[in-house]
Amino acid sequence: MKAAVLEGIDTLVLKEVETPGCTQDTILLRVDACAVCGTDVKALRHGHQMVKPPVILGHELAGTIVEVGQHVRGFYDSERVTVASAVPCGMCYYCQRGQSTVCEDILDIGSTWPGGFAQYMLVPARAVRTGCVNKIPDGVSAAAAALTEPLACCVNAQEMLGVGTGDSVLIVGCGPIGCLNAMLARARGATCIIMANRSEPRLKLAAAVGADHYVNTSEEDLGKAVLDLTGARGADVVIVACASAEAQEAALGLAAPRGRVNFFGGLPRGSSAITFDSNRLHYQEQVLVGNHGATPYQNYKALALIAAGLVDTEKVITHRFGLDELESAVGTAEKKEGLKVLVEHGQCA
Ligand SMILES: [Zn+2]
Ligand SMILES: [Zn+2]
Repeated sequence: MKAAVLEGIDTLVLKEVETPGCTQDTILLRVDACAVCGTDVKALRHGHQMVKPPVILGHELAGTIVEVGQHVRGFYDSERVTVASAVPCGMCYYCQRGQSTVCEDILDIGSTWPGGFAQYMLVPARAVRTGCVNKIPDGVSAAAAALTEPLACCVNAQEMLGVGTGDSVLIVGCGPIGCLNAMLARARGATCIIMANRSEPRLKLAAAVGADHYVNTSEEDLGKAVLDLTGARGADVVIVACASAEAQEAALGLAAPRGRVNFFGGLPRGSSAITFDSNRLHYQEQVLVGNHGATPYQNYKALALIAAGLVDTEKVITHRFGLDELESAVGTAEKKEGLKVLVEHGQCA
């Protein structure tokens, strides 16, 4: 099969590799689509602690089953599926508590296990066993379904934040994750959604997701804008969907009393120490949470939201490439000119 193999920093090689063999507890997929994530860009340009080259990246994927191991029940040839990429062990203390995003022994598809930037991908036995494989309902495109995983990460964040009916939600950062969070907040009943970004082109792209207000922070004071739009209270929920220390430090000040704040993006290693007024947290009874990844059940729910038409993930796809153009696809994602960049394997010669 053809695969884009990460062989080292800045070295992505499209080559012929052996198609993985399907064993009795695994499922073999033909990959239909796989989106480029910020993590893929990071792994290619700077390396990543979890990624040990040579490796096949890609963890936001949709595929079609071509072979099912003899011990696997409930899955059949030709069915289309998505796979949750953070595969929990199912046995540790946190898995036992249903908190598998902090599992002590995560298997990561697209970093510690060969991912979706290849014509075929073997779904590990553990992913099959722990409910990571979800069937794509008819009527949902492979492109839309490929974004199940990033949407599931938003579900994880918004479940922890308790985003619900009547909430005002401020999203700082209009990238793909900001946009998915905006659509999800709407689906969960948020009635005032404010999106903020420094760059006008990104704000224009984010208009597609139908937030109520857009604030260009290079022209407008965000603090003042948020007070104006929330009856001088501040936002009930603030989601910092960008890797900015400055945005994280400002977040509590933008949230209302009893407001809930989420740091969605991680900061670069070595510069992740920030400062904020902890008295604000104390006296205003605010809640600050961090999130990373999603559980298999949150992946199930994300796909259900897409299938029900409550979150139209295709709205955030601005670029499409073939597998043989992965280098350009990653370069496009890196420039942040668009939103999500999708690799469609059918276009591979
Ligand atoms: Zn991702
Ligand atoms: Zn575990």
